[in-house]
Amino acid sequence: MPAIHKLPEVLINQIAAGEVVERPASVLKELMENSLDAGSQSIEVQLMQGGVKQLRISDDGCGIDKDDLALALERHATSKIATLEDLEAVGTMGFRGEALAAIASVARTRITSRATGAEHAWRVTEREREPAPAALNTGTVVEVEDLYYNTPARRKFLKSDSTEYGHCDDVFRRVALARPSIGFQISHHGRVNMRLAAGDTERRTREILGDDFMAQARPLLAEAGPLRLSGYVSLPAYARSNRDAQYFYVNGRFVRDKLIQHALREAYADILHGSRHPAFALFLDMDPAGVDVNVHPAKTEVRFREGRAIHQFVFHAVTHTLASPVQAAVIAPVG
Ligand code: ADP
Ligand code: MG
Repeated sequence: MPAIHKLPEVLINQIAAGEVVERPASVLKELMENSLDAGSQSIEVQLMQGGVKQLRISDDGCGIDKDDLALALERHATSKIATLEDLEAVGTMGFRGEALAAIASVARTRITSRATGAEHAWRVTEREREPAPAALNTGTVVEVEDLYYNTPARRKFLKSDSTEYGHCDDVFRRVALARPSIGFQISHHGRVNMRLAAGDTERRTREILGDDFMAQARPLLAEAGPLRLSGYVSLPAYARSNRDAQYFYVNGRFVRDKLIQHALREAYADILHGSRHPAFALFLDMDPAGVDVNVHPAKTEVRFREGRAIHQFVFHAVTHTLASPVQAAVIAPVG
């Protein structure tokens, strides 16, 4: 075996990119989450060729200081946590400080940003880390082009533009559904595909899941101690052949969790045939200390400290709501 040696920084980032940047949709997720963390009120997504050729995300958030711009592209550089205590109670979508570094190692990346109070904007790219003056209103524009241009082995795994666009659209909907107070827009090849004005949860749910869903869904609201579950669940008549219309969030983060999926399957077990799937938009809010989101870089997996209690709570809330004869079922504390 050759002698042990340290890997070069760019290769380290490219290895990490394998976990964080699976396809254009994962880039989109990271960039939209950064815009959320920056306190944006309006987020615009523009894609070319399914996001492979270009992803452009612009927001009106707090922006990045000139002195921080180059750092934002470095691995393990973040403004969101500083200590282990912060990590255990993390309230932002990001905290690992690796998304921009990973993205910049596998795509041409340009960040233009004007921080609140700054006289003008500054720009850095993956090659030119010294900030250059630029023009922009307060906020940030991140442009990512030619994904995997320098890692052809990865590029081969990308699917057709329309498939990649479909995945981007999924990510866009997932993020937008959980943030009704923020305006969103997504376009592909210059054509606006979805424009969502700031509004409330009911309106946003209707926009994302559709009128048919709303006509056959029950609103749900349940509280038990520090746990709160709210949203909409479909009645059996709205059963689907796939799981595409299943949205579950923990503290605003879209998750795909076995325990939660099991609780929902159980709640529908007696009223839905095995091959049919319910639709739902459910938001679980809880003490951040009771859930570990630092399980996987993509953060769609979580680990609950009190898994059984959460399972019971979700199961009961959904069961009660579906069985209740009134439309707006408010569930008394359970568990
Ligand atoms: P993380 O989100 O985990 O901190 P990222 O690599 O995604 O790591 O981003 C690095 C840093 O760049 C963030 O901590 C934040 O300070 C800054 N940043 C990135 N995107 C934006 C944005 N759209 N608006 C403001 N700041 C941003
Ligand atoms: Mg981030």
